[in-house]
Amino acid sequence: MDYKGRLARARLALQQTRLDALLVTHLPNIAYLCGFTGSAGVLLISQREYVFFTDGRYTEQAHQEVKGVRIKIQPGNSAQAAAAEWIAKQKSWRTVGIEAAHMTVAERGAFAKGLPGKARLVAAPAIVERMRMVKDSAEIARIRAACHLGVKLFDRLLEVVRSGVLETKVAGDLEFEARRLGVEQMAFSTIVAGGHRSALPHGRASQAKLPARGFVVCDYGVILANYCSDMTRTLHLGRPPKEARRVYQAVRDAQQAALEAVKPGTTVGEVDRRGRNLLQGLKLDRFFTHSTGHGVGLEIHEAPRIAGGQAEVLRSGMVVTIEPGVYLPGKFGVRIEDTVVVTDSGCEILTPCSKELTLL
Ligand code: ZN
Ligand code: ZN
Repeated sequence: MDYKGRLARARLALQQTRLDALLVTHLPNIAYLCGFTGSAGVLLISQREYVFFTDGRYTEQAHQEVKGVRIKIQPGNSAQAAAAEWIAKQKSWRTVGIEAAHMTVAERGAFAKGLPGKARLVAAPAIVERMRMVKDSAEIARIRAACHLGVKLFDRLLEVVRSGVLETKVAGDLEFEARRLGVEQMAFSTIVAGGHRSALPHGRASQAKLPARGFVVCDYGVILANYCSDMTRTLHLGRPPKEARRVYQAVRDAQQAALEAVKPGTTVGEVDRRGRNLLQGLKLDRFFTHSTGHGVGLEIHEAPRIAGGQAEVLRSGMVVTIEPGVYLPGKFGVRIEDTVVVTDSGCEILTPCSKELTLL
């Protein structure tokens, strides 16, 4: 990974602001900029230097993972305390940028207390998140590997989804197989939602038994070499009634319409509109109650958000999900989700896996 280049670009972005320094506290942003994968750290970027603070538990790991950055570890002190002390000594600083969305009130107070002279903390623009939106080839390779592993797991799902089986058992079997194939952890709590529960867009696997007849929404992702995958398929137990077939086909067509809109230069709002319009034509749009998708990378949900009215323009190298769904309250729900990478002319589906209505 090109940490040197990323740090330099972050510093360049910092120069476009009025900030003397940027205090990076969001761990995925730290991992992105300098490679540190531990659970405690602060990265400080100024015009003069890069300094990484962590605590004694990570002495060895920090030296292994973090390159091109000064590493500071104060025995007995937290990363935050060490960083605060460091900032206190920078007498010429006036404004220090913080990642407002990723700092607790208590942490902000601790940093503010030690600020030198007239310096103050200000909310920084999303410098690192914006950089992370466009993936380089090494990142795309990792996300592709994670996604392809996710597709392999689908075969396991087809074996374990049966009427009468607990949703938690299905999720457990899937996750065990994932672990067996080398996955570090799941990217989020696996969703297995059968029957009426499939109408819950985020029906985490519960103690409910899968019904004799009905849809089963399965949404899962893995983390492989720090990068996430995300996919959803909706299976059907028993013979589907006409309405179920109709809704499934509608969601599939909406997903296809949105996928076809994905290319450089298109706004994410337009991608959202394409899928939603298709459902509108079938009077199903009011049952599509969430946005069309999200970015995927070091985090399972990251920028850009594929949602109505959003002006962000797709660029080659962005990795996003396309996941329309229709949820009929008290009845059933259907969602189909792929992770795709924007290419020069369209997109590559990173989760190639059947979307035919699968009957079990
Ligand atoms: Zn998902
Ligand atoms: Zn998703």
